[in-house]
Amino acid sequence: MEETRFMLAEKEMPTHWYNILPDLPEPLPPMRHPVTQEPCPVDMPLPPPLFPDAINRQEFGADRWVEIPDEVQAIYRTWRPTPLQRAHRLEAALDTPARIYYKYEGTSQAGSHKPNTAVAQAYYCKKEGVSRLATETGAGQWGSALSMGCAFFGLECKVYMVKASYYQKPYRRNLMETWGATIVPSPSPDTEVGRSILKDDPECSGSLGIAISEAIEDAFAHDDTKYSIGSVANHVLLHQTIIGEETRRQMELADAYPDVIVGNVGGGSNFAGQFLPWVKDKMNGKKPDMQIICVEPEACPTMTKGPYAWDYGDSAGLAPILKMHTLGHGFIPAPVHAGGLRYHGMAPIICHLYRLGFVEARAVHQTATFEAGVRFARTEGIISAPESCHGIKVGIDEALQCREAGEAKTILIAHSGHGHFDLAAYDEYLSGRLQDYEYPKEAVIAALADLPGVE
Ligand SMILES: *Cc1c(COP(=O)(O)O)cnc(C)c1O
Repeated sequence: MEETRFMLAEKEMPTHWYNILPDLPEPLPPMRHPVTQEPCPVDMPLPPPLFPDAINRQEFGADRWVEIPDEVQAIYRTWRPTPLQRAHRLEAALDTPARIYYKYEGTSQAGSHKPNTAVAQAYYCKKEGVSRLATETGAGQWGSALSMGCAFFGLECKVYMVKASYYQKPYRRNLMETWGATIVPSPSPDTEVGRSILKDDPECSGSLGIAISEAIEDAFAHDDTKYSIGSVANHVLLHQTIIGEETRRQMELADAYPDVIVGNVGGGSNFAGQFLPWVKDKMNGKKPDMQIICVEPEACPTMTKGPYAWDYGDSAGLAPILKMHTLGHGFIPAPVHAGGLRYHGMAPIICHLYRLGFVEARAVHQTATFEAGVRFARTEGIISAPESCHGIKVGIDEALQCREAGEAKTILIAHSGHGHFDLAAYDEYLSGRLQDYEYPKEAVIAALADLPGVE
């Protein structure tokens, strides 16, 4: 009998996050201050008072291994270790000699990988006497994860939710409110940034970049408040490496090693959390031919179409300036259902590794991702988040290519979460109403004209 689930016991959960920074063959370009545009010093990389000190230190930390605080480990154990599964039934349906594994983060209470960093960030804030957190959310995944993290540590939480999603996805809003957070549709009348956008365009449906600006302004305006971000930043990727660290141990149980690792990228945190613990094997020559494939939507093709340039992390220019692939901080992507992938930039660590040739990128249309998601649901049972369907789509493509070539590669899919709150999107797909969006070339050219102009 071939095994299906490769489970770690609770006490086998990794106790450290992996920090890639000291292992990079070339150092990561330091971020720039949004106002002075000067490189931020390594000991205070982010403009205070955005983040708690512990997070500031982690952002450009030099230690390869960072111990996960006991209190955070204790909460992780309410849903971790998460399962690694062999997709036997999908393999059979594809008639492929490839071996497909997936690491599934949908078993967290919030349904995605995001609590891995939300719980850590809430913990560090609590420890430093912060009583309130402000953040943004697109489709509501990050907002719900942080609401839960704040509930665990008794913190207040204010969430600026992209207006389009606020009305389209009321259930995620209900989750956040149940966990005790306060939610407003963004752009909102609660901030300067929001008010000025609403004045020009009362119908503005919002964007992640705008919501980030509002949350940062909120944190600057309140002494008791810190800002919290759900992706992109180095410390977020660090917290997500628990995923890959567990997977390494589980692949060992499976007596397998990945030839191809594939996953979706919005700001890049879930996929980096999976692949960073593996990419060092590629850098040190242990597995030089391993393929690491980042999958993004054709409607928001940051890595495949955006230039590698300095840009703000948010719309209003309050967030640090990062060296990253970007479509321009003012770019508002088409309303694809993978709301978590609608961000104009990409984690600087991923962009740096892309430039150095350690990872590759592909863009796919949403209809094809739902087709893959339905195939996955009918074989493996899981209804996947629209974001996760992007990685599944390319995982299936790779497996089909193995069939053509008669190759038995080992494919590892980073599966970021379930799609139980995205059934309206499945409904659109199943009833033939789902549309694809072409690459919005003109809008990107316009947005790129507004880069901050840092050399
Ligand atoms: C937020 C989200 C993503 C995209 O964010 P990353 O930082 O790129 O991981 C992907 N999948 C799910 C389920 C999400 O909630």
